[in-house]
Amino acid sequence: MAKKQFKTESKRILDLMINSIYTHKEIFLREIISNASDAIDKLAYKALTDGDGSFDRSKLAITLIPDEAGRTLTVRDNGVGMTKEELETNLGTIAKSGSLQFKKDMAQAEGVGENDLDIIGQFGVGFYSAFMVADRLTVTSRAYGSDEAWRWESSGADGYTITPCEKAEVGTEIVMSIKPDADEEDYSQYLRTATLERLVKKYSDYIHYPIRMEVERTHMKERPADAGEDYKPEYETVKEWATLNSMVPLWQRPKSEVKSEEYNDFYKEKYGDWEDPLSVIHISAEGAVEYKALLYLPAHAPFDFHTRDYQKGLQLYSSGVMIMDKCADLLPEHFRFVKGVVDSSDFSLNISREVLQHTRQLKVIAANLEKKIKAELLRIQKEDRPKYEQFWKAFGLQLKVGVVSDYGAHKDLLKDLLLFWSTKEDKLTTLAEYTGRMPQAQKYIYYACGEDAAKLSKLPQAERILDQGYEILCLTEEPDEFVINALGEADGKSFKSINDEDALPETDEAKAALEKKTEENKDVLDFVQETLGDKIHAARLSKLLKSGAVCMTTDGPISLEMEKYFQRMEPEAAGQMKAQRVLELNPDSGAFAALRDAMENDKELAKKYAELLYSQALLIAGLPLEDPAAYTELVCSLMK
Ligand code: ADP
Ligand code: MG
Repeated sequence: MAKKQFKTESKRILDLMINSIYTHKEIFLREIISNASDAIDKLAYKALTDGDGSFDRSKLAITLIPDEAGRTLTVRDNGVGMTKEELETNLGTIAKSGSLQFKKDMAQAEGVGENDLDIIGQFGVGFYSAFMVADRLTVTSRAYGSDEAWRWESSGADGYTITPCEKAEVGTEIVMSIKPDADEEDYSQYLRTATLERLVKKYSDYIHYPIRMEVERTHMKERPADAGEDYKPEYETVKEWATLNSMVPLWQRPKSEVKSEEYNDFYKEKYGDWEDPLSVIHISAEGAVEYKALLYLPAHAPFDFHTRDYQKGLQLYSSGVMIMDKCADLLPEHFRFVKGVVDSSDFSLNISREVLQHTRQLKVIAANLEKKIKAELLRIQKEDRPKYEQFWKAFGLQLKVGVVSDYGAHKDLLKDLLLFWSTKEDKLTTLAEYTGRMPQAQKYIYYACGEDAAKLSKLPQAERILDQGYEILCLTEEPDEFVINALGEADGKSFKSINDEDALPETDEAKAALEKKTEENKDVLDFVQETLGDKIHAARLSKLLKSGAVCMTTDGPISLEMEKYFQRMEPEAAGQMKAQRVLELNPDSGAFAALRDAMENDKELAKKYAELLYSQALLIAGLPLEDPAAYTELVCSLMK
């Protein structure tokens, strides 16, 4: 019988499958099973619309029959079947709208590398994927409402034949002649029940018809009634039919019927975590895009979370079939720690769907999920603060990075979720809580940057602010100051560094008094500036200090903490990123009086005092001394 040729557009995909170097060949089973499930869906629908009273839903099933000796794997369904013409058009051609897009993707993938072939896994490639593991396919089918049966057969690129045959029942049977094992490929595994069970669990667990296979199971024999004290249980291994899939996924069940243990067990098993998740979000969305989602907030960061190996993403299912393991587009970067599953029948395994369409739906779902995750986090923040702090400890940094990334595009979304350490009761606070506590007279939200919250609250320039009953946010993590800059304000209140000259608003009298003092002490300030040279940008009398003698602040946009940051991150460019240091002196301090005195009587001593004050300001600010040995000598010389 003459072989028919595949249509040219199908040939290329076929070639790709036959010669596939794709590493996830195992997905062929998912494809074949999903076709069987589709066919059963169609039959169920037809029987319903035809009013076929004899139709028995309970008989619907997909059967796997591995034959190790004959090297075949058979997948049988009692679905709608195919007529001769349907075999011809459905299996002889891939001439659907989406195939073009698919081919484009593949063409691109070819130039790039094997990883890009992941596209195979993302969008169904369908029937031909069986050629990744089989060198011959035999499809026997009898269509619903027909008593003819037909056999379609092909060994791949050289075409296919269609011949009449016998088949007792309506439905389709696909016999795959599994390839001989090759160097690096263990094709025989697809003949073993253990592999098949695993693959069904992995990819097709929630197909809503039973997937059945004959398996060997070992059971404990029943204890004989007359068994004595020393009876030892006996075991027997029997062959029996088993349903491999669980059929109803957790996320498809109504929320009210799922126990929290079930949610937790599912999480732990699926994501290999030993600890229960912090929280579960179960969504059943209706409307423009319908989907179910089951999201988890882990209680701690996974071990690889801060490495490049960690891949964000949610598992994407379509009508019970997993189509993508880690769909990154479903999660924004700032929520990359979320784990879970999205299932939407709006996605199809069918490659004939436009890729674009997927993208649009994905976007809608992703935007919804982002809102839900935020809402859940806010709920925990309100209702269970210790739990929220646990979350914050694990993933707070991720949220802060989210605020500053993409030019601050996500700051409004993330603002309410942030926590900062506050001098108020020495604990974490939200910005809303801070502004809620602000006394009427307080104009700004105060912050201080440094390595250690305890040290920050003891800075000499903090004293006046704390005295007013104002609280200070202690920013101790790397991105903190950038976060503050990105935010700009909270509840209409702007942020103010405690190092800022104008941190505390002053009265006109105080202003005039300081101007007068500055005028009187101009010679001292000039002397200090001259002595220290370009180590400082300016020396001035401080409005910030109360009992402290000296502190280091800055002029201009770069703070001391930022300077430190740039020195760590980009040492080469750090030269340009220098803070303009300002040495602030307290005119009412004893130290200042001593300086003034020395200036009039002993210029050398005054120089030493200036150096000493400068070094002290560095130390208080947590900055390294430029020359520690010289500093000790200086101190010792003063002790003489
Ligand atoms: P898709 O499932 O995306 O349509 P496939 O390549 O997987 O593409 O299958 C091609 C077509 O072959 C299906 O659309 C269906 O019409 C037909 N088909 C495949 N397997 C079966 C089956 N087991 N029973 C009935 N029809 C099938
Ligand atoms: Mg298919």
